[in-house]
Amino acid sequence: MPFSPAVEKQLEKLGIRATRDLALHLPLRYEDETKLTPLKDARIGESVVVEAEVVEADVKYRPRKTLVVKLTDGERDLWIRFLNFYPSQVKQMQPGKRLRLFGEMRPGLFGVEMVHPKYRIVGKDTPMPKSLTPVYPTTTGLSQHELRTMIEGALDKLALEDTLDDDLLAELRLGHFRESVHFLHRPPPKVDRASLDERTHPAWRRLKFDELLAQQLAMRIAYRERRSKVAPKLPDKHTLTNALVKSLPFPLTRAQKKSIATISKDLAQPHPMRRLLQGDVGSGKTLVAAVAAMQAIENQWQVALMAPTEILAEQHESKLRHWLEPLGVKVAWVAGSLKARAKKQALDAIAAGETQLAIGTHALFQEDVHFAKLGLAIVDEQHRFGVGQRLALAAKGIEPHQLMMSATPIPRTLSMSYYADLDVSVIDEMPPGRMPVLTKLVDDARRDEVVQRVRDACAEGAQAYWVCPLIEESEALQLKTALETFETLKTTFPDLAVGLVHGRLKGSEKAQVMDDFKQKRIQLLVATTVIEVGVDVPNATLMVIEHAERLGLSQLHQLRGRVGRGSQESLAILLYHRPLSEAARARLKIIYENTDGFEIARQDLLMRGPGEYLGARQSGAPLLRFADLERDVDLIETARDVADRLIAEGSPAAVKHLERWLGTKRFYLKA
Ligand code: ADP
Ligand code: MG
Repeated sequence: MPFSPAVEKQLEKLGIRATRDLALHLPLRYEDETKLTPLKDARIGESVVVEAEVVEADVKYRPRKTLVVKLTDGERDLWIRFLNFYPSQVKQMQPGKRLRLFGEMRPGLFGVEMVHPKYRIVGKDTPMPKSLTPVYPTTTGLSQHELRTMIEGALDKLALEDTLDDDLLAELRLGHFRESVHFLHRPPPKVDRASLDERTHPAWRRLKFDELLAQQLAMRIAYRERRSKVAPKLPDKHTLTNALVKSLPFPLTRAQKKSIATISKDLAQPHPMRRLLQGDVGSGKTLVAAVAAMQAIENQWQVALMAPTEILAEQHESKLRHWLEPLGVKVAWVAGSLKARAKKQALDAIAAGETQLAIGTHALFQEDVHFAKLGLAIVDEQHRFGVGQRLALAAKGIEPHQLMMSATPIPRTLSMSYYADLDVSVIDEMPPGRMPVLTKLVDDARRDEVVQRVRDACAEGAQAYWVCPLIEESEALQLKTALETFETLKTTFPDLAVGLVHGRLKGSEKAQVMDDFKQKRIQLLVATTVIEVGVDVPNATLMVIEHAERLGLSQLHQLRGRVGRGSQESLAILLYHRPLSEAARARLKIIYENTDGFEIARQDLLMRGPGEYLGARQSGAPLLRFADLERDVDLIETARDVADRLIAEGSPAAVKHLERWLGTKRFYLKA
């Protein structure tokens, strides 16, 4: 680009690396500077363009250094004030100079005034602009004026050829690229403003479609590339898989059977599976994973199961050992807290191929772990891991199949866009006999009633969690609160066995506490949010969550999912402290009114937008700039169909289109 290195650096901050990116840097909004308003017609509170001549300019020092300029158009006077100004500006304000001003009319000390108006010096007949004035997203040090000039220059120079042919555009009822881009940068004043501001104008739709098409193309190409890679074929031999299903004390749900069948087919393919298994908290994903593991193992390949926390990994270990050891499957445990000797033993067995199923935390993908023959990598609560961590585990095998599980449902629009390179299975059914969890919102001032509730429940043989959430992102503080709550509750409930579990406990200590809770040696378990994922104690039917107003929706939903796992009715009490922010109030209302994880996720996405929703961990994916996942569903669907079509036809349009929209950037592809 023909700019100075300093300017290029600023442009880079805006994602602009080439001249063509300037054309795709679209306005945030527009200002109408096409009409001149006579001063006498300009009303207080209105943003207007006026012209007037300088009468006098003065720098005042009280109460603050201010440049005050008096202007007149012959009929009316107008004052303008600047708190920040350059000496050159003072010089400009020579009596008799004519200024064209854009700003809001306000009542001032001496009459009407404008504070910090946009202005420029004009002659008597300087023409008014013919189009609306675009306001662009910019960055400090780069003025609107500079950016506008650069974009104008780019628009004059670029051909902006269409990547899509006329037939397709007619079919999709979309306009041409060049016209749409030009229109959005310089819309005529007569345009329907609402369609511009709400981005529903056909020109906006064309640009949104193009952006979505680029995303779909990138994702679908990655998807296809994966289909050309080779992975071990692991067909269902019905030995271990059948044995496991037969040994269960309950039948599989219809949804579990369906997911198992789909995964089973994937594994039999000579290409690596990348499947995301979604299912609400408690829907029985672990079992689906276990059956998949059996299929790999009966083909003499190894399986790794990785979970984000030690507590969860341990739960998997104990559950899977219980299910699988009777079938003769050899399970190993790998976690950071293992003693050196035990660790070496585990790693040796994995490297020798003796271990058939290795379960653990992120310790599973450290450098010292070598699998003899890794055929399937299972990642539980996949959204907790970074993309890089998942890839590191996958790199342990030649090209292992991957099964990712998530209880944080991904709303449909999000999975159609950001997860378009994965296959997705959904478990949309709970094991029978589950009672929905009742949720109560209780002001912390009414704590006493909650205490009574816990006492009653435990007296009846139930168990309870008392959760102290993360406060201000400080693990140390959270620990302190948990310890204090633990002490207080021990005094409050002298006749109950109260336990405590938190992230700082050693692995074996944590396991001991969880086991005590499971075996009912603990009735009330005080916990930090370490129990948020996966923990499974069906007899626990009451949960108290402190400071619920501070937690995010998915966290609340996950926590609440720790109860309601048996056939007893369960209750979640969300304690909150006043005053509540508007966002906190909205979150509590959503969690109170909804039990369906998908609906909660959808509302969460609506409240936070995809950037925050996907979280920093997923931030490989550049977010959509123009399209809106909620409002542009029809465009997403169309873009997906068109992307598949272009790819299938081997159309050169696909390459041209990707080049324009991605250029040097890349959508992060989940291998
Ligand atoms: P999640 O999907 O949240 O990971 P889990 O796999 O932990 O759920 O399963 C929750 C509980 O339901 C576990 O105790 C599990 O053994 C039990 N479970 C799984 N499948 C069934 C089923 N088909 N019928 C009854 N209980 C089941
Ligand atoms: Mg789980």
